[in-house]
Amino acid sequence: MSVSRGILPWHDTAWQLLKGYISNERIPQALLLTGQAGLGKTQLVRFFVHLLLCESRDRSHDSPCGKCRPCTLFLSGTHPDFVEIKPESDDKDIGIDQIRWLLSKIRLTVHYLQYRVIVVQQADQMNRSAANSFLKVLEEPPDRTVIILITDQLSLIPATVQSRCQKIAIEPPTAGSALDWLNENYITGDLPLLLKLSGGAPLLAREYAERDAITIRAQLFEKFLLLRSKKLSIVTVAAFCCEHNQFDLVAWMISLIVDLMKINKTSSMTGVMNVDLYDSLKMLTGDLDLQRLYDFYLVALELRIQLKQSINKNLAYEGFFIKWMAV
Ligand SMILES: [Zn+2]
Repeated sequence: MSVSRGILPWHDTAWQLLKGYISNERIPQALLLTGQAGLGKTQLVRFFVHLLLCESRDRSHDSPCGKCRPCTLFLSGTHPDFVEIKPESDDKDIGIDQIRWLLSKIRLTVHYLQYRVIVVQQADQMNRSAANSFLKVLEEPPDRTVIILITDQLSLIPATVQSRCQKIAIEPPTAGSALDWLNENYITGDLPLLLKLSGGAPLLAREYAERDAITIRAQLFEKFLLLRSKKLSIVTVAAFCCEHNQFDLVAWMISLIVDLMKINKTSSMTGVMNVDLYDSLKMLTGDLDLQRLYDFYLVALELRIQLKQSINKNLAYEGFFIKWMAV
């Protein structure tokens, strides 16, 4: 089986560090990989894990052989010493049952010569009891076990967990390198705008391009405006949001609200994220009060948390838009 390298140009610093752990045979027992969504953290971790499990790495410790038994098992997703957990769905957190399952796995002996590796994706989604239980694994990790946590939201990881991990931050590339990468990967569209919307994360920008996110965001903004002028009903706009749940619509709405506050305060275009909507935003913000906008911004942050839970999303959006009408 062929081995695809999971390393992207902006991973280089982190990769040198990870590779160094292997070549120096000094692998931290717990790693915490941080960085915003869309930077390919998971694929970097998978490549590192693959390299770690391989029994016949190349001499420069740069890539797994792809042929040994552990490599074959890893590539087919059946390596017994590799355990991965993540939320079962977007609106579910990582619960105590998953940690119990993990504990049952790590009590078993390691099958192969290398390490046992535990990866927790979206580690910030562990609920409190899961995090408490997981902490015990971090406090007394079994021998030859490497634990890797991945998160887009470091602030949601308990300090007790953070302090037991070696942190590695993945930073977005410069705008120029990100544009180069998108061009090299034949991504078309308004690339600078796609990058702005994705916070400079190239993989997210690529996903946005493939899903026509610029159009959906423009429709969302138009509905935002039509709602204010009572030309559309709250129910219709809430239904639109539920229909496009694959996008982080709340992140876009938060960015629109932040832009409205910026323009309201300074009238300047500096620092505005939705540059293509500047004129419409400027017109809209003329009628709005800065304090009320700020209060609404807090409501949007709250909505983002609510939507991560198992609730009626329609109702959550409706409640949010009722508040928007009152700004
Ligand atoms: Zn191998």
